Amino acid sequence: MSYQPSSTRYDLMKYRRCGNSGLKLPALSLGLWHNFGYIDVIENSRRILHTAFDNGVTHFDLANNYGPPPGSAEENFGRILRDDFRACRDELIISTKAGYTMWEGPYGDWGSRKYLISSLDQSLKRMGLEYVDIFYHHRPDPETPLEETMQALDYIVRSGKALYAGISNYPAEKAKEAIAVLKKLGTPCLIHQPKYSMFERWIEGGLLNVLDEEGVGCIPFSPLAQGMLTNKYLDGIPAGSRASRGVFLKESDLSEKRLTQIYKLNELALQRDQSLAQMALAWVLKDPRVTSVLIGASKPQQVTDSLKCLENLTFSEDELNSIERILKH
Ligand code: NDP
Repeated sequence: MSYQPSSTRYDLMKYRRCGNSGLKLPALSLGLWHNFGYIDVIENSRRILHTAFDNGVTHFDLANNYGPPPGSAEENFGRILRDDFRACRDELIISTKAGYTMWEGPYGDWGSRKYLISSLDQSLKRMGLEYVDIFYHHRPDPETPLEETMQALDYIVRSGKALYAGISNYPAEKAKEAIAVLKKLGTPCLIHQPKYSMFERWIEGGLLNVLDEEGVGCIPFSPLAQGMLTNKYLDGIPAGSRASRGVFLKESDLSEKRLTQIYKLNELALQRDQSLAQMALAWVLKDPRVTSVLIGASKPQQVTDSLKCLENLTFSEDELNSIERILKH
């Protein structure tokens, strides 16, 4: 039977305005960095996407290099889109990016106009799309003039290959410059995608204020610290988990100090009647400058568990202080 989206998909999700733009994003968005490549089971990837969309997750985030192998997440996503979401394209916000190594030679990496435009053309082909909703420059390039990279984003939007432009991993000062260049070109920067979680706090030191002042949205990635801010590592490293693969999350990341913090945070979450994953997501979403949190999932049940964070996004002063105390030790 072909997939029929749930008729109640818009009932519970909250949609938040992205900076000063006209676009709203779901409070939780789904990223396809892991679990959507050729090495994964496509029927599981498909079910994760169904579960997300059935619950109002209208935003799916990709990049040219997601897989493995690189490009295969876009290809698998394209296949699922064609099979199941053909009628829903206008209900979806699909993003992709270029900026990390994608192909050999001098034109498959960083931030030249040559790389960004050809990479997006490849991404569109892999996904079978005429346009993406958001196209990001994935990381700052210390060598290419910022003007060239931003002109490429401006061109991409004007040509209709993307509806909006974004930047990712730009530090506060560089983000401010990029936002100013884009504004001058007449293509506003819609959104910034930085790493942010209870364990990763760098954006509090200036970036969040820059985005707020400039009316640019913010969509933090790895809000669960790749799964560390969940209950999955409380009793060791389960088979099949990201830490068990040891590539992007390593056993050494789960140090004794980290694990002690995780146990204590888990207790606090239970006192709030939440799972640790739900509390960690609520903690990121409590800041009104955050538009959406970009979660990953290896199973549909993780999506449903994480979505329940929406039932309680508020923290008392006492709870916030307890979290800070736990993180200091
Ligand atoms: P998370 O921090 O949300 O980690 C996701 C992992 O946490 C899952 O794969 C799963 O681990 C575990 N998990 C998720 N939900 C639950 C739950 N409810 N209970 C228990 N465990 C859970 O995010 P990611 O690191 O995956 O990043 C999310 C997205 O952000 C990416 O897909 C990508 O789109 C984007 N991103 C962007 C980057 C950039 O440079 N712009 C860089 C990195 C990510 P397990 O697999 O072990 O089951």
